[in-house]
Order: sequence, then C-alpha cells, then structure tokens
Amino acid sequence: MKTIDDLQVAGLRVLVRVDLNVPLDGGRVADDGRIRASLPTLTALTNRGARVIVCSHLGRPGGKPDSRYSLAPVAARLGQLLGKPVEFTAETVGPSVRAAVEALRPGSVIMLENLRFTAAETSKDDAQRGLFADQLAGLADVYVADGFGAMHRKHASVYDVALRLPHAAGYLVAAEVAALTRLTANIRRPYVVVLGGAKVADKFEAIGSLIDAADWILVGGAMAFPFLVAQGHKVGTSLLEPDQIELARRYLDQAAHAGTPIVLPSDFIVAARPAADTPREIVTADKIPADRMGLDIGPESATSFAIRILQASTVFWNGPMGVFELAPFASGTRTVAKALTGSEAFTFIGGGDTGAAIRALGFAESAFGHVSTGGGASLEFVQGKILPGLAVLEDQ
Ligand code: ADP
Ligand code: MG
Repeated sequence: MKTIDDLQVAGLRVLVRVDLNVPLDGGRVADDGRIRASLPTLTALTNRGARVIVCSHLGRPGGKPDSRYSLAPVAARLGQLLGKPVEFTAETVGPSVRAAVEALRPGSVIMLENLRFTAAETSKDDAQRGLFADQLAGLADVYVADGFGAMHRKHASVYDVALRLPHAAGYLVAAEVAALTRLTANIRRPYVVVLGGAKVADKFEAIGSLIDAADWILVGGAMAFPFLVAQGHKVGTSLLEPDQIELARRYLDQAAHAGTPIVLPSDFIVAARPAADTPREIVTADKIPADRMGLDIGPESATSFAIRILQASTVFWNGPMGVFELAPFASGTRTVAKALTGSEAFTFIGGGDTGAAIRALGFAESAFGHVSTGGGASLEFVQGKILPGLAVLEDQ
C-alpha cells in the first residue's frame, strides 16, 4: 500500500477523503478526536504545497441536503486545529465547487459539503456511484484515502474515486492498518476482547469470529442483554433486540466448544430511565427488576473485567460498558479504561463512542496502544473481512 510519502503533490489538487463524522451538539463539535486524527496527513500535504480538497460524510442525512448535517461547523473546527483558514463550499460538487477549487492556492485547504447530501454516494448501483465519483475525481489530480472509519463501505468517495485517480493512503489509514495487523497476525496471548455499546445489531455478527480468535470475551453495555436472556434471565426494560437472543444462544454454545469463555456481567446499575437524576441501585444480573433497565455494569463485574484485562497481552475493546454520557452510569467504562491503561498489553480501542468515552472521561489517548477512528471498519478488519476502501488501494 502506497502512502502519501510516495506521491508527488506539490501544486497538485489533492482530494482527501477523511472521516470527520463527529458528534455535534447544537451546531458545535462535541468531540474533535476524528478531526485531530486527520491533521498529520492534511498538514503534511499543505506543507508540501498541495492544493488540498477535504471531503467527508456526517451522519445519515438520507441522500439530500439537510442543514442539521452540514459540515460547516466541522470545517471551522478543522481550521482552528490546522491553524489556517479552511474554505467551505456550500455544495459537494458542481460548477461553484470547481471554480472554488481552481482558485485554491498551493498549501491551502478547502472543504466540501457533506458527501451524503447526494444519494449516489452510498448507492448500491455501481453506475450511479460511478457518475458521482466522476464528478469528485474531476475536481482533483490525486486521491488520498484517509477516512478509515468509512473504509468498510463501498461508497463513491471511498471506493470508486480511487479507481479514477492516482492514489495513496494517508498517515491515519497507514497507522490504523499497522495497529489492526497486531490483532490479526501473531497475536500476543492471552487475547482479551471487550465488547459493549448499544449498536448491538451492527456488531453481533462479529462475535462468531472473535470467539475463534480470542482467549476471553468480556461483554458489557447493551450487548450483554441478549446473552443474559439466552441464559434464562429477565432484563427488565433494558435495551434489547429480541432477534439477537437465538444467536446469543448459539454463540454461547460455540464459545463452550471453542473453550473461549464469554464473561457476562454479574451485576448491574439499574434505574427507571437513562437520566442522571433518577434513583438507581446495584442489583445482581439475575435480579433486574421488571420496571428497571441496566444502564451500567456493576462494580463487581467491572472489577472482574479489570482483572482479566490486567492479565492480557492483547486487548481489543469496542463499545462502552454503560451510558457513560451520564456520570452515574460511567463507572464501568471508567474502570475498564483504567485497566487498559494499567495493563502491559497492546491495547486497541475501536468504536466512535468508545473513543469519545475515554476522551470524555479524561484519559489521554497516548495511554492506550491505539485509539481507532473506526468502529465498524475495525470490527470488520479483525474478522478478516476485506474492506473495499483498503482493497482498492492495494490492488494497483
Ligand atoms: P461505539 O460507537 O463505540 O461502537 P455504540 O455506538 O455501539 O459504541 O454504543 C455507544 C452507546 O452505547 C453509548 O451512547 C452508550 O450510552 C450506550 N450504552 C452503553 N451501555 C448501554 C446500556 N446498558 N443501555 C443503553 N445504552 C447503552
Ligand atoms: Mg457509536
């Protein structure tokens, strides 16, 4: 895989696909981790006199313009972090964008409006995506892939544009791949996988191959509930997707055969609803009241997870242990994060919210082996799946 070090960029128009899909809070960037992660590549390109065109998606606007998903606040924050103005185009492609790009001076940066304001970006139809990719490619001389968080998607700006322009990986993608390779080749054991979060449907499929790869699987967050129900427990009003229960049962069987323990929480912090001011209590996993929801793993579970993590040589963590955004339900996530920082293991954190959680809880990213910008992308990589955005870089 070529990197930007192998590219001539001086004076050239360089289209850089980044993943600046960051959480916004009332028009303000709530967590700028992904913007910071894009800086090494963007700074190198501007220092080398490239005319840099930055593009990204934000959220799921559904293929049409929607001001709630405008990248304008992200462009402003990027400008602050880069220490130079980032011009913003109100459209993603078209004549006005072409004119703005033509006027772009070497060493300057322009950012395009949300790629997903155009339905073709995510279309399943190759021809439709291709037409949009033609327009994007027409803006530039060279393409740089640095949006790791979107590389598992066969989208126009991720996949099709790379077929149309000379291309290379940015530093973020190179670093992500180097870190992920430590989870797929010559894994140092014991290898502990910690899973949590709320996007259970998106992640559940990964568990099968993780059972084969890992020595221990620790499950917290809403991910734990289908397993608990499969074991015959009641989980009250906890977040639960019923169609996962049968699969959870099969994973428990598979894990028993493989000799890979799936460790579930033995206690929970429960409350009537996810709010900081609601009364809460600690209950054992078999005593979740019918009108309460599990919002964090309990202290006993957190300690037992931490002990496993401290004994590991490799740790992969995806998904917070509880609703960390609310202080009363952040302890489980904090304890797990602390164990990772205290462990001798190579620690890998994937998942947008997991990365945001450790930053929000005050941990330095440098205290971990690698904090990935990609949740879905890193999960697919560790399963051994081919990421379209990476494959297209490696092919030529
Ligand atoms: P990531 O982005 O790291 O992959 P997810 O998107 O799957 O993680 O999930 C993150 C969300 O999971 C957080 O907003 C957190 O509040 C929520 N969460 C964690 N535990 C629970 C729980 N027990 N019940 C409901 N939501 C939870
Ligand atoms: Mg998430």
